[in-house]
Amino acid sequence: MIKVEHLVKKYGDRYAVNDISFEVRKGEIVGFLGPNGAGKSTTLNILTGYLSSTSGKAMVDGLDILEHPMEVKKKIGFLPEQPPLYLDMTVREYLNFIYDLRKCKLNRREHINEIIRVVKLEGTENRMIKNLSKGYRQRTGIAGAIVGNPEVIIFDEPTNGLDPKQIIDIRNLIKELGKDHTVILSTHILSEVKSICDRILIINDGKLVADQLTGNIEGELRGNRRISMRADGPADRVLAELKKLTGVVYASIGAEYGDGTASFLIESQKDVDIRKPMFYMLAKNNWPILSLEFPGANLEDVFISVVDESEHEQKKGGNK
Ligand code: ADP
Ligand code: MG
Repeated sequence: MIKVEHLVKKYGDRYAVNDISFEVRKGEIVGFLGPNGAGKSTTLNILTGYLSSTSGKAMVDGLDILEHPMEVKKKIGFLPEQPPLYLDMTVREYLNFIYDLRKCKLNRREHINEIIRVVKLEGTENRMIKNLSKGYRQRTGIAGAIVGNPEVIIFDEPTNGLDPKQIIDIRNLIKELGKDHTVILSTHILSEVKSICDRILIINDGKLVADQLTGNIEGELRGNRRISMRADGPADRVLAELKKLTGVVYASIGAEYGDGTASFLIESQKDVDIRKPMFYMLAKNNWPILSLEFPGANLEDVFISVVDESEHEQKKGGNK
């Protein structure tokens, strides 16, 4: 549905987007995750035709956005980071205005009523936008984005600045819309992509550093990366031996129990399973293992690890 190839955007000699390629299939809800300044808005603004790229290609439903800007805009509903709301219009006036702007061909009354229902704006449609809460303003922005029934909806940080209740409401609305639309959503909040998206693209410093199914990205580190272990032995000596094991990148004492046993937190490199060498080391020293657990990784860890890795790669690569 969406295909981006080697997209580059330079401001002066600085790269805001540096050679990004990805695809979004029909019906997917894809999260665009990255810290502030990563290049999310720039990419989304190019994809929606609001900004030109320095080089590279973006296609929506097989149409190049540069060659067919009007057709592409019809296929995409866009909620920018700062939705362009006209504060002196009522919700209904605003939706009618967008309807005209987009030269929509659907039955006006029916379509706008349907949108008001779907986005749950009933009861506010005749109020001026400036008198609405931030949550309802955001709903109005989303309503505007779906005028004309576009196949793809792109949300740039849609829950920014909302309170927790409004955040949940907007997330639910996006999930609802995701049932019959292709959705791209940008956010710097890890739990947001986790609760909404099928797939996560992680972007950092203008580069794509990960492209994973939401389930996999959490599972990626689970199992052998972090271990919580309790053993019957002198804590300091056990710790010193744990640190010597090949592949261990971090070890610390979690707790000492006063009965000669202690728990330890151990992190190993992603591709190293330290369970067996750890067992033999403890056995050799006569320090029985009492428990072994795998707390797993959360998205924060994954994010830090992929970003670190890509920065490491870039440093190794030298002149990038
Ligand atoms: P994000 O949406 O992930 O926070 P942006 O795409 O807004 O990131 O910005 C990416 C980078 O490009 C940032 O370093 C930002 O400062 C820079 N940038 C964005 N817009 C402009 C602009 N109009 N002129 C110069 N630099 C810009
Ligand atoms: Mg942004």
